[in-house]
Amino acid sequence: MKVEPIERRRIQLRGLLQGVGFRPFVFRLATDLGLSGAVWNGPAGVTIEIEGARPNLETFLLRIERERPVHTVIDRIDSTLLDPIGEARFEIRESDRAGIRETSVPPDLATCADCLRETLDPANRRYRYPFTNCTHCGPRFSMIESLPYDRINTTMRGFPLCGDCRNEYENRSDRRFHAEPNACPACGPHLELWEPDGSVRASRDAALRAAADALRLGKIVAVKGLGGFHLMVDARNEEAVQRLRLRKIREAKPFALMFPTLASVKTVCRLSELEARLLLSPESPIVLLKKSAPSAIAFSVAPENPYLGVLLPLHPPSSSPDVGARLSGRRHQRQSVRGTDLHR
Ligand SMILES: [Zn+2]
Ligand SMILES: [Zn+2]
Repeated sequence: MKVEPIERRRIQLRGLLQGVGFRPFVFRLATDLGLSGAVWNGPAGVTIEIEGARPNLETFLLRIERERPVHTVIDRIDSTLLDPIGEARFEIRESDRAGIRETSVPPDLATCADCLRETLDPANRRYRYPFTNCTHCGPRFSMIESLPYDRINTTMRGFPLCGDCRNEYENRSDRRFHAEPNACPACGPHLELWEPDGSVRASRDAALRAAADALRLGKIVAVKGLGGFHLMVDARNEEAVQRLRLRKIREAKPFALMFPTLASVKTVCRLSELEARLLLSPESPIVLLKKSAPSAIAFSVAPENPYLGVLLPLHPPSSSPDVGARLSGRRHQRQSVRGTDLHR
């Protein structure tokens, strides 16, 4: 029987590789192929040292290219040969903090279908928890203070993981294996609803419900989201929209509209397949759509304008009557809220 020689390689990758589930992916792949070594984040990207029989190393490299997580971008791969050292296993190593920063900062990603399902499941420990995320979704850019991408370098530093979240973080078969912003109601951030004078009127789920009630009553709610504040009103309430215009001193420039679902967008706007894809993409952009029919949308939202700036919600979730319609099984289908995700 021919014995394949053992090789060790150092592979340096540059591109968008941190905060996108790349290290857990590499860990699983190496372990599946029976290879040893390590992967770690550094200021210049991700480094892998990998050791094993040459055919397995080649399969490893091929599969990195083919199977890497959807949001990764590889700009460059450098590979050098090292002397084998005969380690027994593969590990995710502590990040390397020295060196010049060259890696890209990953963007915030809209809640994925799996996380959404959890937040809408009354039996799940993240039921109605607005800060739910995993390796495939959630905040990145807005919470990263410095690189490499580790929890310690993010605004989540102040929220130590509880036992359950730590188990997810350390379990290689879990969707939250090495998810740096992992959080739950027991250990993560929570919502508060503040009065105009800064006093706390409600917290946690009661804050969510009270904010939704305030919107229904025609109030303006300032919602602190990931990247800043959203000023929200009920877009069907002409008086409320006008009051927002007065306060903002914004005479006629159109406001963006958040819809709960794609189906609800279609009742008001014309929607091509491409526009639908854009709305559902993880970047969750505002898309300009042509109005198709008279609707309940207040005139003052976009006066004398044939278009509406439309978006779907970026964060999880509230329970609303059309939740069932929202969960169409699409990868990035998201839940709704008209102003109910109050990040504080
Ligand atoms: Zn997720
Ligand atoms: Zn937790």
